[in-house]
Amino acid sequence: MSAKTVIVVGAGICGVSTAIYLNRMGYKVSLIDKGKPGMGASYGNSGFLAQWAVDPVASPDLWRIGPKYLANKNSALFIKWGYMPRMFPWLIRFLSNATDKGARHVVRSLGPLLSDAVDQHKSLVQNTPLDGWVRDSKISFVYRDKMHFDSDTYSWKMKKTAGLIPKVVTGEAVREEEPILGKDYRYLAVLEGQGHITDPGQYVAKLADHFTSLGGRVISAEVHDLQKNTDGRISGISTDIGTMPCDFAVITAGIWSKGLTKKLGLKIPLEAERGYHVIFENPSVLPRNPLLMVDGKFGVNSMDMGLRCAGTVELGDHKSGPSVAPIKLIKNHARQAFPKLTFSGTQEWMGFRPSTPDSLPVIGEVENSGIFVGFGHQHVGLTAGPKTGYLLSQMVAGQNPNMDLLAFNPSRFSL
Ligand SMILES: Cc1cc2nc3c(=O)[nH]c(=O)nc-3n(C[C@H](O)[C@H](O)[C@H](O)COP(=O)(O)OP(=O)(O)OC[C@H]3O[C@@H](n4cnc5c(N)ncnc54)[C@H](O)[C@@H]3O)c2cc1C
Repeated sequence: MSAKTVIVVGAGICGVSTAIYLNRMGYKVSLIDKGKPGMGASYGNSGFLAQWAVDPVASPDLWRIGPKYLANKNSALFIKWGYMPRMFPWLIRFLSNATDKGARHVVRSLGPLLSDAVDQHKSLVQNTPLDGWVRDSKISFVYRDKMHFDSDTYSWKMKKTAGLIPKVVTGEAVREEEPILGKDYRYLAVLEGQGHITDPGQYVAKLADHFTSLGGRVISAEVHDLQKNTDGRISGISTDIGTMPCDFAVITAGIWSKGLTKKLGLKIPLEAERGYHVIFENPSVLPRNPLLMVDGKFGVNSMDMGLRCAGTVELGDHKSGPSVAPIKLIKNHARQAFPKLTFSGTQEWMGFRPSTPDSLPVIGEVENSGIFVGFGHQHVGLTAGPKTGYLLSQMVAGQNPNMDLLAFNPSRFSL
């Protein structure tokens, strides 16, 4: 019997991981991307394998912090006001989840998806040319002082429920731990047992090369629609280079999954949390381990191409180009936080975090159609990509994943 065919739409970290696992299971897999693998959100993130990122931005704290952010022109929250009328229904749902009950639901659901992320990445790359790309590290949350740390009490309370308890470093010991930091920072909360990647875009591109070396096909095309038989099962995919028949399809197209799933009649409220990075080339100083600048809301990582500072949130659409203010904020903040930093030049980038209003991804099959989805990983897609890919490959194969996936059900927004 010939192998069943699967088309995976979107070659970000979720798509390449899914394609590799399906290939290893014996399926005939094509991975389609409208651009090059690893050039979507997966390209420019902070590179954190953030096992710690279990608690959502939509927490009860948001009601206290949100208005302050909106009132402060130097805050790390930006809004494209012209898009707000269209984003309003998503925002209302997002805010309605900013409760203790909502936050605990996210911690309980995301915990199992993130808790072994470093091992999941290592297992994906084991015995491939990418062996060694997954680095073990700590992460330090950088605070100005104890009072600043205390303002984050709720987030740490949630992390504690997932077993994440930081080691605290204070005063001058902060600079012994991380000499890059200036004297404004006197309090670190350090978590051991995390990981990072030093070039996420290349990591995904090389995973796609590995997939090709296994016999998988990477196709450059834009998918317009999915076709079904009269029994509601997938029959093929229409693209700008023609129609391709398949037995199964997996949509892992990040923020762009919204348009494709809408055509399937699936209502998934997906919006972009636009994020930015600045790379300081040939930097004079680097952090010893990844840092999270709590006041600037960006991650700091020593990468192959320089010092990458990536983060901020700009609520808006996924069609218009980058704004100036978030880049300016990251640059100014980095100059102030890292007083010894000199560099030869900078590179800037913007990407779209695909975010649902309940801060959870959608992973599963669309109504017994042979069409599966795996997107909506907001701030943690790099971290959760390999495990998502593995779970999707199990679902395509009709196996029962050893994890409760109810919270990620693609139909949950229509219920
Ligand atoms: C500034 C910033 C910092 C971040 N930091 C981290 C971090 O440190 N750790 C972490 O875990 N996460 C982080 N994230 C989030 C993470 O980057 C995303 O969640 C993740 O990359 C999403 O991966 P994906 O595979 O779902 O989508 P993407 O990487 O966006 O890939 C989707 C792919 O689908 C393709 N595509 C779309 N539509 C079509 C179509 N119709 N036909 C064919 N192809 C199509 C696109 O070209 C693209 O290549 C960060 C995000 C940002 C913006």
